[in-house]
Amino acid sequence: MSPERVYLDWNASAPLRPQARAAVIAAMDATGNPSSVHAEGRAARAIVEQAREAVAKLTGAKPAEVVFTSGATEANAWVLRRAWRTLFYSRLEHASVTAPVLANPEEIVEIPVTGSGRIDLDALAAMLAARGNALVKAPGQALLAVQAANNETGVVQPLTEAVRIASAAGVLVHCDAVQAAGRRPLDFAGSGASYMTLSAHKIGGPRGVGALIVREGAPVSPLILGGGQERGRRSGTEAVTAIAGFGAAAAAARDEIAGFAALASLRDTLEAGLLAAAPTCQIIGREAERLENTTCVAVPGRSAETLIAALDLAGFAVSAGSACASGKVTTSPVLAAMGLTPEVARGAIRVSLGHSTGAQDIARFIAAWTTIARPAAQAA
Ligand code: PMP
Repeated sequence: MSPERVYLDWNASAPLRPQARAAVIAAMDATGNPSSVHAEGRAARAIVEQAREAVAKLTGAKPAEVVFTSGATEANAWVLRRAWRTLFYSRLEHASVTAPVLANPEEIVEIPVTGSGRIDLDALAAMLAARGNALVKAPGQALLAVQAANNETGVVQPLTEAVRIASAAGVLVHCDAVQAAGRRPLDFAGSGASYMTLSAHKIGGPRGVGALIVREGAPVSPLILGGGQERGRRSGTEAVTAIAGFGAAAAAARDEIAGFAALASLRDTLEAGLLAAAPTCQIIGREAERLENTTCVAVPGRSAETLIAALDLAGFAVSAGSACASGKVTTSPVLAAMGLTPEVARGAIRVSLGHSTGAQDIARFIAAWTTIARPAAQAA
């Protein structure tokens, strides 16, 4: 990246960590197929297993519970395309959760969302209570999808509480922890969740690799059939190079997790600067606990598309929370679920920081923002 660019889109994809780059390069020369029994195969297997341990440590899971996939999208699809009789979810979920949920031919139940961007636990409890004992009597047939933290607003979800409420009613829990990994300590073992999703490129690993953590004994049927790799759970020769990078990124992210909270002061400076320049703008989800690196800001009356384009020209990479897939900005279901009017939501952009973001980057961003986002009446 040219030195004058400032990258503030870490929730979309984090820059590759040097440890991950080194691991990828080293693994490229591992010739063997991890399933082969000869020395070359065993060397490739060792790379995969070392990475599995690093991912297990980052998430508080057992290595045997970690299954490598082509990314979080595959991991989410794998869990949610299973034949569930009832799927509980909310509009806060990423499209890779929402789309397979909505494709479920059986029952789909939407959990309401609070104005601060968390799932409504009281509503969840009431909905489950209304079903009495029905789901307890049919174990393994109902699933709640609840993310650990939201990719657009950074709002941290009440996972522990949600698991407690769901488990008591006989409902298993799937947690998309893509945005929380490396940013909040994860304790898969203690969480009570049955499934957890991770993506390497959000923690400084390569793109195109991720994992599904499957609790021992949780129902799982493979989505991809073939050679029976990953203990029969996910076929296909393991992506040794990418997995090596994922493992190295997971180890580095775990080592540096304590430093993540320090981003809060940069984020606070950023938000003060945003508001000073454009007092009508709204910081979304500010009342809730948020990831320290994420700001979702909406400028009423402006379009995110134009703001992003102007910021890009000025040297800054940010995104609309909802732009992920096509590059085309559409109204975010997350912001709509939080009750934002389309007029406000269409002017929402996401600024996300990472461990190499500095005070200088934030100062430069605020200066550019002051020109770009100030109210039209004041513009030259
Ligand atoms: N879940 C969440 C919360 C995400 O932010 C993303 C990436 N935008 C994904 C899933 C999909 O991850 P991947 O790119 O690995 O398919």
